[in-house]
Amino acid sequence: MPELPEVEVTRRGLAAQLAGRTISRVEVREPRLRWPVPREVLGLAGRTVRAVHRRGKYLLVDCGDGHLILHLGMSGSLRLVPRGTPADKHDHFDLELGERLLRLRDPRRFGAVLWTSERVEAHPLLAHLGVEPLSRALDPARLHTLTRSHRSAIKLFLMDARRIVGVGNIYANESLYRAGINPLASAGRLSPERCARLSHAIKDTLRAAIRAGGSSLRDFVGADGKQGYFQQRYWVYDRSGSPCRRCGAAIRRIVQGQRSTFFCPRCQR
Ligand SMILES: [Zn+2]
Repeated sequence: MPELPEVEVTRRGLAAQLAGRTISRVEVREPRLRWPVPREVLGLAGRTVRAVHRRGKYLLVDCGDGHLILHLGMSGSLRLVPRGTPADKHDHFDLELGERLLRLRDPRRFGAVLWTSERVEAHPLLAHLGVEPLSRALDPARLHTLTRSHRSAIKLFLMDARRIVGVGNIYANESLYRAGINPLASAGRLSPERCARLSHAIKDTLRAAIRAGGSSLRDFVGADGKQGYFQQRYWVYDRSGSPCRRCGAAIRRIVQGQRSTFFCPRCQR
């Protein structure tokens, strides 16, 4: 599943290519995505893309009088291809911008193509999202404040998008390893020092993944079609039984909230 780094890599690729371009045509081949693609989307021709922003894992294409909201779901990817490129059966949506198409491919159809002409931050899908982990709003003091009164395990807290948005399973595992914190530790009991280490670890982990071009998981590719290679650098994720890269102890796998957690029992207390 594309996580925040993959979406941010896609955003950067698209922002550089789309800003200032005028939409010449829209094609919806399959409107039955996670939610039905609204009719307004078909009327976007003639608008000029001002910028491409991101909130959590939503891409927000600023068209001046409204925003196209895109989500990659479980298996979606966005690519820029030359106009006239034949569509695959999973290519559900095209935005034509002159000589090129922005094309959404989404075999499982959990992705989204939506439109709002209201204030985009107030959209029902975005209004309740938590702090952006890469923004200045997430700092050691804020993480400490946010975690107070939470009895849940810190791993589950990190994956709750109403608190911090978009960390996701892979990067929650990796961030906790980097911070030396056991994923089962109670969120509300983390000391200010440990919250500081964790807040830095989250940013470092996400930034490293973005630099590496995102993780190459199933169908993810960046907007330029290049595969990411972050998965070769995991410290703990998907390494159950393998030796910890720091201390040599066997990486352990447990299940929390129906998701796999990987950690080093020696390095993470
Ligand atoms: Zn270790």
